[in-house]
Amino acid sequence: MHTTRRDFVRLSAALTAMLPLTKVFGKGAGPAPVKPVVISTWNHGVAANVEAWKVLSAGGRALDAVEAGVRVPEADPKVTSVGLGGLPDRDGKVTLDACIMDDRAGCGSVAFLEHIVHPISVARMVMEKTPHVMLVGEGALHFALENGFKKENLLLEESEAAWKEWLKKSEYKPVVNWENHDTIGMVALDQKGNLSGACTTSGMAFKLHGRVGDSPIIGAGLYVDNEVGAATSTGVGEEVIRICGSHLVVELMRQNYSPEEACKEAVTRIVKRQPEKSKEIQVGFLALNKNGEHGAYCLQKGFEYAVTQGNGEKLYLTSKSYY
Ligand code: ASP
Repeated sequence: MHTTRRDFVRLSAALTAMLPLTKVFGKGAGPAPVKPVVISTWNHGVAANVEAWKVLSAGGRALDAVEAGVRVPEADPKVTSVGLGGLPDRDGKVTLDACIMDDRAGCGSVAFLEHIVHPISVARMVMEKTPHVMLVGEGALHFALENGFKKENLLLEESEAAWKEWLKKSEYKPVVNWENHDTIGMVALDQKGNLSGACTTSGMAFKLHGRVGDSPIIGAGLYVDNEVGAATSTGVGEEVIRICGSHLVVELMRQNYSPEEACKEAVTRIVKRQPEKSKEIQVGFLALNKNGEHGAYCLQKGFEYAVTQGNGEKLYLTSKSYY
């Protein structure tokens, strides 16, 4: 009897169905592990990646990795743009913004939060313990204290001195690539092939009291879609919010843009909308796709990012820039 290809496929399917699964895939074997990767903004990303990598290399969740990673600059008093030691607003208050997003579209965020060293962990708690996505100001502080976070003074001597110096002229003019604005944004892919991201900052130094930037806004400072990829941003948050930056980058990757091309298109959109202003400010995007490919693009030269991937290989890369 002549066996057609279709018959053969049917027969193989029937035989396969009769075999115990362990025989088909090998004993206890699931899908092959993915090579994990973590990327994050600026040079404080290097130390942050070390902590994230401990989780990823042990087979942990990308969500745990990004939280552990960004907690490093949050607690580092020398990093003046994140958490403890962050530069204050023009009233001398350190107010923090952070958000986190996992592989199941879970997200949590805090904004305009004072006195808490680890806003990222409060954001995670908002995600996991409340029916909400975002808590701000007094409410966010109250929630954090109720959940065991400690109230601390985040304004350290050096930042206070910088603020007093600033007060002499009181001129609000963000300086490109200076640590008056260096958010840590981190996105990671774990061995199971799942993506997550975290973003945390003290925001633009000497901002108006109450100002909130892009960093705690899901879709602006951070976005994760576990089918496609993840993106995060740094720089003048107002410009990122205007284009829903990180969401835009992820949607472009959905349309098969590479991570770098997607970041470039988002940056180009900022330029097209405000060509003159775009020459004077910094905005940078970082992106990671589901295959572990990464890329970045920024407005002005000088934006750098840290990559830890594969078997622990570490890179510190300079992003391409529009200008
Ligand atoms: N995006 C942050 C903000 O606007 C600051 C930065 O990353 O440079 O608050």
